[in-house]
Amino acid sequence: MAKKKSNHCSFCGRGEDEVALLLDGIDGRICSDCVTRANEILGTITRSNRKPQTQQPHCDMKQVPRPHDIKAHLDQYVIGQDEAKRHLSVAVYNHYKRITQQVDDDGVEIEKSNIVMVGPTGTGKTLIARTIAKLLDVPFTIVDATVFTEAGYVGEDVESILSRLLQVANYDVQSAERGIIFIDEIDKIARKSDNPSITRDVSGEGVQQAMLKLLEGSIVNVPPKGGRKHPDQEYVKVDTRNILFICGGAFDGIEKKIAQRLNTHTVGFDSVQNVRKLDPTNLMQYVRPQDLKSFGLIPEVIGRLPVLTFLNPLDKDTLRNILTAPKNSIVKQYAKLLEMDGKRLEIKDEVYDYIVDKALEYKLGARGLRSIFEQIMADIMFDAPSMEGDVCEVSLDYAKSKVEKFI
Ligand code: ADP
Repeated sequence: MAKKKSNHCSFCGRGEDEVALLLDGIDGRICSDCVTRANEILGTITRSNRKPQTQQPHCDMKQVPRPHDIKAHLDQYVIGQDEAKRHLSVAVYNHYKRITQQVDDDGVEIEKSNIVMVGPTGTGKTLIARTIAKLLDVPFTIVDATVFTEAGYVGEDVESILSRLLQVANYDVQSAERGIIFIDEIDKIARKSDNPSITRDVSGEGVQQAMLKLLEGSIVNVPPKGGRKHPDQEYVKVDTRNILFICGGAFDGIEKKIAQRLNTHTVGFDSVQNVRKLDPTNLMQYVRPQDLKSFGLIPEVIGRLPVLTFLNPLDKDTLRNILTAPKNSIVKQYAKLLEMDGKRLEIKDEVYDYIVDKALEYKLGARGLRSIFEQIMADIMFDAPSMEGDVCEVSLDYAKSKVEKFI
């Protein structure tokens, strides 16, 4: 005869009226609280016992856009910066080839193509990385290199870079392992002098050393919630082999290092010809890995960032285009907002020139465009929904009155 089951949870012993739900088993019962708890425990165990992945994650090459497609997509959002866009398109395409490659084919193993972008602030480095991530529909996160310090010192451990990627991937480790991480301000962790440090350099060289293993691809213990590691914390194992790292930095003053190198190299036969070909107003375009070394990145890090590209400073024409041409340009966004109120936005041509001039004056790159435009639009956005008529016109005098009011 079957044993009579008690009206209590066989795990916690609480009675039917003390719990939300009591589920029947063959010989016992379990309450809803114990089910939840068991689920949590299982989740933790599976995460921390996860075996390193030996299989290549599935990725269908036919679905990956080709370099031309990637560049064409970037063109819709990023104005100018052709060189960087081409480099990035190829690097990302190769990255996906690498992911799909069967290692035992013929012994040729394609190496990771992490990227470093050098260029003034506000010229589109983050925008390019973000646009690519969206196109590829992979988890993407931006981290700032300046918050990291060498393990054991005040600040975050470099592993927390991966915690953020895990967070955006909703803790789906497999998806995070194919994501893209943009490390901003990589130049700020340059070591302070060109010689290896004698004293500890916890926020510069130390961090670069710690970053090596992430960049080259290894299995890293990641604290899922980020922050500092401590001994009794649960870790998630993340394999960084297929994570694409894109680093960006303004590298202020690197032009001097480039000029020094170019000067020493032009002593020779064809020096006169070479000198003539150089454009002294934009030396950034001649950046080479050795300049990053002179700037203070350690050779091991440079070696793990094989794709080096640059961004141009934004000139007047580019800035003007940025205002209106990108698919989601700031002007298009405001026009859309007003359209929802049944209004049409009309901006006089000379207003654009005025905004660009002001942005150049403030030296904020394209970031300045947005803040200036927002100053101009603030009152219109306040009044438009209750206004008669269906056109919101912005004249030069109006724009000036709004911007100059703050000066
Ligand atoms: P950074 O080079 O410092 O990473 P961002 O990519 O964050 O600069 O650019 C800041 C903002 O300026 C972007 O959100 C974008 O609106 C605008 N912007 C900068 N450069 C460009 C560009 N080349 N084309 C279109 N918009 C740009």
